Amino acid sequence: MNSSTEEMLKLASSRGVLLEPDALKELSVRTDGFAVLRSYLDSLETPPLVVTAGMLLPASTGDGETATQEVPKNVGRISSVQEAPRVIRDITGNSTTTGNVKDFAKYFSDRFRSIKRILLKRKDMSGAIPISKALHVNRDARVIGIVNTVHQTRNGHRILEIEDEEERCTVLLLKEKGFDTVLKDEVLGIHGRMSRDRKMLVADSLIRPDVPFNRTTEKIDTDSKVAVLSDTHVGSRTFLRDEWDDLLAWLKNSPEARDINYLIVSGDLADGIGVYPDQEDDLEISDVFEQYQRVSQYFSELPDWVRPVLMPGNHDAVRPAEPQPTFQQEIRKMFDSNVTFVGNPSLIELEGRRILSYHGRSFDDVISTIPGLSWEKPIEAMVELLKRRHLAPVYGEKTPLAPERKDYLVIDEVPDVFITGHIHSYGLSDYRGVKLVSGSTWQSQTSYQKMKNITPIPAMMPVISLSDLELSVVNFSDFSRAERRKQRAGMP
Ligand code: FE
Ligand code: ZN
Repeated sequence: MNSSTEEMLKLASSRGVLLEPDALKELSVRTDGFAVLRSYLDSLETPPLVVTAGMLLPASTGDGETATQEVPKNVGRISSVQEAPRVIRDITGNSTTTGNVKDFAKYFSDRFRSIKRILLKRKDMSGAIPISKALHVNRDARVIGIVNTVHQTRNGHRILEIEDEEERCTVLLLKEKGFDTVLKDEVLGIHGRMSRDRKMLVADSLIRPDVPFNRTTEKIDTDSKVAVLSDTHVGSRTFLRDEWDDLLAWLKNSPEARDINYLIVSGDLADGIGVYPDQEDDLEISDVFEQYQRVSQYFSELPDWVRPVLMPGNHDAVRPAEPQPTFQQEIRKMFDSNVTFVGNPSLIELEGRRILSYHGRSFDDVISTIPGLSWEKPIEAMVELLKRRHLAPVYGEKTPLAPERKDYLVIDEVPDVFITGHIHSYGLSDYRGVKLVSGSTWQSQTSYQKMKNITPIPAMMPVISLSDLELSVVNFSDFSRAERRKQRAGMP
């Protein structure tokens, strides 16, 4: 990879377009490649989803072919499931952002107000006062603020700058108190006392919005189960075709699969193009639309009673900035009519159960910032998001955010089930009554992951029973090996 290639990918991603490998190649051999790309993007009101070499440099490559192509007809299969998934909250069709600086100010003030509302419901935050007032009281004060900066002093104390609607103040976190990690941009409640010189609030305790205790799950009358997949990365050379076939066979033939009425896929359906430098070396299918044709073919092979709910991730062909609206019509029309397309994140209702699904791009930032988290522990990272009631608490690092008028990444409503992907390692757990499910992946270790020392746990499919929210997992990596062993031994 060279740095200008990376710059071009970044530019394309910031404009919500995908660069075809050929286009990237053409550009990177030119000294003015970046300028050519920028002036092309600047010249368009609505850029296309995929930028080909022909669009950028018609003179050098000739055909100027666009990315549209024939797609298979929607076959309109009838599902035997009575209840269609209901989408409760999703940015799809609701995006208002123009992406300017003013939008960001509005976006963060919505984030602040929404999480403040959650904090104020807590007993230990009653009597919270505005920062402007706290600066003038002599007694203990409770304030709520969004964290602008976090600094560590030479002695290991931490100094925050927090802000509310009208005022800022400095907060001192003494080392001796052992406070846990504070993230930039998170919204916190603070109990503290003003220092004598009134220059800073010395914190006694930090209050996070968190999830209330004592959530109980009432049983509901249904046999329906929900299977969870994530990160199938179709189109990649490392897609696990054998394990996928095993999964299909199991869904069709196993008695245990008869109640699997829904299948949620939480992002990275396809491997995409132009997601990282030299990705084309890892692709079996280098055309992004062909990748989705393959995805649609795979999902059309599911048994009739399984209703797929498909969500994009950071590899998919949608705008990279979160919240991500769902796939465009050109891709959606490749699929059967029983597929529900949702954005990332989205709150979905299945037979009365509320399920929050988020791909998990923000784990990149959260795992690198909070000590003790790692790529091997998806559940711990999920808990950190729930505690902060925000799906992407850190802004300005790896997770691109779109400044929507409303912050769709705030976890306003505590769901029954919280599903994520992106980590490529499965996990099942419970946090204060919220079921946590991390989807695995259908891709074996890539060279990029090897380099980064990330070992995925592929081909594991979590299953949620909707009646009592019990969690289980079907292991298709063992399944394959055991089946193949049986076949070799000549067993039925
Ligand atoms: Fe992925
Ligand atoms: Zn991902």
